[in-house]
Amino acid sequence: MSNFIFENTWEENQEALKTKKLAIIPVGSTEQHGPALPVGTDWIVAEYLAKKVGEKTDKGLVAPVIPYGHALYHADFPGTMAVSQTTLAAYVKEVCDQLVSYGFTHFLFLNGHGGNNNALYDVGQYLRLKNIPVANIQWFEVAGDLNPEWGLIGHGDITETAVMMHIAPETVKVERAHIPDNQKIGNIQFLDLHRGEFDGAAVYLNLRTRDVSKTGDLIEHGHAAGVDYSKSARDATAELGKEVCDAVVDYVLKFIDEFVKFEFEYKK
Ligand SMILES: [Zn+2]
Repeated sequence: MSNFIFENTWEENQEALKTKKLAIIPVGSTEQHGPALPVGTDWIVAEYLAKKVGEKTDKGLVAPVIPYGHALYHADFPGTMAVSQTTLAAYVKEVCDQLVSYGFTHFLFLNGHGGNNNALYDVGQYLRLKNIPVANIQWFEVAGDLNPEWGLIGHGDITETAVMMHIAPETVKVERAHIPDNQKIGNIQFLDLHRGEFDGAAVYLNLRTRDVSKTGDLIEHGHAAGVDYSKSARDATAELGKEVCDAVVDYVLKFIDEFVKFEFEYKK
């Protein structure tokens, strides 16, 4: 019997569910990541972290990765395969409904892509109304909180590149990495994919990645105070990637131990 639902027979899953009530669902995205990283980056990382967590936990079972996410803004770059937030939320809800019917009482999303958050929040609220606790952990956010030097600098940044060099080195073209140049339109400077700065203040804009970056990778300003924006993904190493992955996996395992105790007081 394994901790991976898809490796077990139904009888093994039935047996495992007697003690393991947490469903761990890796959620990713298939989207361009600039010239150095493959389009599978976000689901490859989510799946890898879920695999490492699944190998160590005695509290939960891991579901197959959901490889498509909300990333339509990346669609100008070939190979991006994205779905809308509505589709993603509906799909994940139906997956969760089935898992609930088998007896899972807690859900943990291991999310590899920030664009999925609204859809996963929607699913979380839906399950909350059924009194089921749902948590969503984004590895790159946890990484930055554990060590500010690992904080998010951008799409296809040094940390993400390092993690991919650790997990799937054959897919990384690190020599193609560079410090991306966010574009400007008139006097509006793009801070990231969703925000621009005009006259000293931030404004939200609905952008396509191509508006902001010619190469697909980009700098995201303001997410992690104190990080060094001059760091290039070309400085990434597999050793750094391993350090980040190990730290995130340890954090998730500790979180799971607390989270499975979680029960709502307000049930109606
Ligand atoms: Zn990514």
